[in-house]
Amino acid sequence: MALSGLEIYKLLPKTNCKECGFPTCLAFGLKLAAKGAELSACPYVSEASKAALESASAPPIRLVTVGAGDGKIEIGNEVVLFRHDKTFFHQPGLAFRVKDTLPAAEVSEVVSKASAYWIERVGMCLALDAIAVENATGDPTAFVKCLEAVKAISKKPLILISRNPASMEAALAAGAGAKPLIYAADSENWEAMTALARKYQSPLAVRGNGDLQEIANLVEKLTGAGISDLVLDPGTRDMAGTLAKFTQLRRLAIKKGFRTLGYPIISFPGETAESPAQEAIAAAQDIAKYSGFVVLDSFDPAWVYTLLTLRQNIYTDPQKPIQVSPGLYKFNEPGPNSPVLITTNFSLTYFSVVGEVETSNVPTWLLVADAEGLSVLTAWAAGKFSGESIAATVKTSGILEQIERKELVIPGMVATLSGELEEELPDWKIAVGPRDAVDLQGYLKVVARAH
Ligand code: SF4
Repeated sequence: MALSGLEIYKLLPKTNCKECGFPTCLAFGLKLAAKGAELSACPYVSEASKAALESASAPPIRLVTVGAGDGKIEIGNEVVLFRHDKTFFHQPGLAFRVKDTLPAAEVSEVVSKASAYWIERVGMCLALDAIAVENATGDPTAFVKCLEAVKAISKKPLILISRNPASMEAALAAGAGAKPLIYAADSENWEAMTALARKYQSPLAVRGNGDLQEIANLVEKLTGAGISDLVLDPGTRDMAGTLAKFTQLRRLAIKKGFRTLGYPIISFPGETAESPAQEAIAAAQDIAKYSGFVVLDSFDPAWVYTLLTLRQNIYTDPQKPIQVSPGLYKFNEPGPNSPVLITTNFSLTYFSVVGEVETSNVPTWLLVADAEGLSVLTAWAAGKFSGESIAATVKTSGILEQIERKELVIPGMVATLSGELEEELPDWKIAVGPRDAVDLQGYLKVVARAH
């Protein structure tokens, strides 16, 4: 049961030393109770208090790991219902499912396509995270054969799907890698699946029939049998029912502190979809609300791209914008008379500018100022992209050793800075570029002709 701020305060050192970043122990205790701080921020909590506080301050949704090593997927550990309340910590794993009813050659073909697919967006590599293998035949031998075909192609973590304990045992014994997710224990097979999860030290999914009380009863049996890494499937498949059940699960865990249902959720948006587009729409809902694993049945790069992008947007911490390193960048082999542009180190801004500069084929220098990851206009309004800071970037970036023509192009959004910059950089000509990155190509071509 969660402790109140005052109860937490009683267990803190009460020295008000401020090392946790809060002015008093009481302020820290209140923040801890609101899940807005981490206990580890206070270095002086006694071991006894730590034990009491850790269980009370543990995230309301358990962190569950599937797979091992670099490719492992961590899901759960969420503490809020809405991202703007704090942030979401672990993005849902996206898995692609194959069934053992498919011929091995087809399994290899679709798995190699799904496994090899990746995109780069704002400097980050985005890809599917796992392969789900389903024992649709119910036959252990077919299941193992399909698993072997998948393993020959992909090293991604696995989700093994079978309600038949004999099939699951055969797949686990055949070597499904470290910590595959076993899907699923239900009211009939839970004892056998529990034994397998214990033997292979794997996380276990629990499938309900749409009734949360039934799934809570099942979870209690599993935790009573010593299984703590669980993933929940409430059993709903239609979009409205799924949204309702997933939201109830999240609210129960976070608002009511109901630990029995405090586990990540798995979803199968393709099971009731009539087309890849419908599946993608349902998957988008699941990513936003509140799936920990989304298992896709179709692999269409256009839809997967959309889902990966959506996931990245939702799971980026709004308080920590994605940034690129400030400094000097060069594109299309610039020379001493090439134009010099400047922008901020907000990733989206940087990559928008870079995309246009690269495709213009105009040799260009790009200075990236440290604006704490803010976009041009926001940084200017916050005083982090000013004449003074731009001049400092110019002087320390090393551009002076590279060029003869001192002409700096500033974003059109901050044309107002040109006067200030002429004072800060008296031997530079300050030019005002386009307001939007999309107009940079045309602008650079005109500049290149003039140079
Ligand atoms: Fe109190 Fe610990 Fe914060 Fe110091 S670091 S003010 S002792 S909670």
